[in-house]
Amino acid sequence: MFSNTKTSWPATLATRLTLWYTLLSTLSFVLVFVLAYALVATLLLRQVDDDLVEDIEEFNDSFIGFGLEGMWSQLQQEVTADGDQNLFFQLFDGQGVPLRRTSDSSWQGMPPVTDLVSRLQEDGPLLQALDLEQQEFQARTVYGFINSESGVYILQIAETLEERAEVLELVRGIFLVSLPLFMLASFTGGRFMARRSLSGVEEVTATAIDISNGAINRRVSESDRGEEIERLAATFNSMLDKIQVLIKGMREMTDNIAHDLKSPLASIRGIAETSLASRQVDPSIQQLAGSIIEECDRLLHLINTMLDLSEAEAGLSPQMEQLNLSALIRDACELYQVLANDSGIALQCRCDEDVFIDGNKQFLQRLIGNLLDNAIKYTPVGGEVSIEQMMSDEEVTINVQDSGAGIREEDIPRIFERFYRGDQSRSKPGTGLGLSLARAIVSAHLGSISVNNTLDGGSLFTVRLPLHAE
Ligand code: ADP
Repeated sequence: MFSNTKTSWPATLATRLTLWYTLLSTLSFVLVFVLAYALVATLLLRQVDDDLVEDIEEFNDSFIGFGLEGMWSQLQQEVTADGDQNLFFQLFDGQGVPLRRTSDSSWQGMPPVTDLVSRLQEDGPLLQALDLEQQEFQARTVYGFINSESGVYILQIAETLEERAEVLELVRGIFLVSLPLFMLASFTGGRFMARRSLSGVEEVTATAIDISNGAINRRVSESDRGEEIERLAATFNSMLDKIQVLIKGMREMTDNIAHDLKSPLASIRGIAETSLASRQVDPSIQQLAGSIIEECDRLLHLINTMLDLSEAEAGLSPQMEQLNLSALIRDACELYQVLANDSGIALQCRCDEDVFIDGNKQFLQRLIGNLLDNAIKYTPVGGEVSIEQMMSDEEVTINVQDSGAGIREEDIPRIFERFYRGDQSRSKPGTGLGLSLARAIVSAHLGSISVNNTLDGGSLFTVRLPLHAE
């Protein structure tokens, strides 16, 4: 599979989109929260200011109704009810000279107001923020005229902003709890959306992988996934259609050439055979005729293998039947025992249990034969070759192992290609078509074939085939 050589992180587009989505939505959440927080803080302060101005008006009414002492005793009651650390009153005469105040033990260090009288005359009630050492929270104060026929005074009311601070702290607490929950929700949502929107691309990739494994008929579904993905799927499918037409044309051409070559080759072979059998022919010509027959056989074998390969690649389903694979392997072992003995190789067959699959007998014989033939061919004298079968719930695995030199790492990805032969194998007879035919046969049986080098240096071919469905 693909590996990303650049050190960019994170690797998948889905993860990147998810992280971007989470980051942007979290930033928006924080921004909205900060704005909401500022709004709440301002509204609460305005509420306090309105209340303070209203209080000045109320106490003015009280001053008009009950006189200065009546109003002052009402103020004292308020201080007793709220606590002198929370509420403070101070009375000035009309010139701004302090006359009396409620307990100021918690209200020391009140800053003096310059031009108080003229500012009140010009602008009405004067509001100020207070940061006093003895107050745990910020406080707010208002100065305003109270007047009646009996005189003009200035009243200062100061109160702590504790309640506002508590509300704001609660809001901050809600933010701290909701932020991780929001991040989790947006990460999950982002992941879901990214995966959903990229599932079309995943499908194109999966189809491309299947096709590279031989399933040339696969196509991507063009279902409702958004215009971009649908266009990608449609383009990909039409490209595949064109490639398939081209491949089909090329195969037909090769098949036709192969067919057309068969009869002249058979005639040449026939002529060479006649020369070989004739007593009147010179011995050197007879030798030549022998070589011609050998070459013709090699070419005919090559042509037949190519035609078999085309047949297997076109699909073998019409010629499939339920068959005993183990019996087939045992027969092949018996047949190749002779070749193994001649080559000085010990051939072992471990497939006692009968296994049934749906398959094409003739082609499965070719498959087993090719693997055993290669194993014997590429293993030196004195070596060992074994074939064993193992069964699981849904498939049967056939392992063909040898103690030869194995396959070079750089050859492994290519040995199933048509006509590919490893460098070390050139001295051995062969066409380079055996393993491509093996792979085509396995694919036609909906199975898989793979190869590995074993620890002691030989090669191990593994074929997996689905069992006969009951
Ligand atoms: P060939 O006619 O060359 O044997 P194949 O298609 O059967 O063609 O095999 C392709 C190549 O794979 C061979 O040329 C050889 O390099 C390698 N090969 C196949 N089987 C074995 C094996 N059992 N041990 C080592 N190499 C092998």
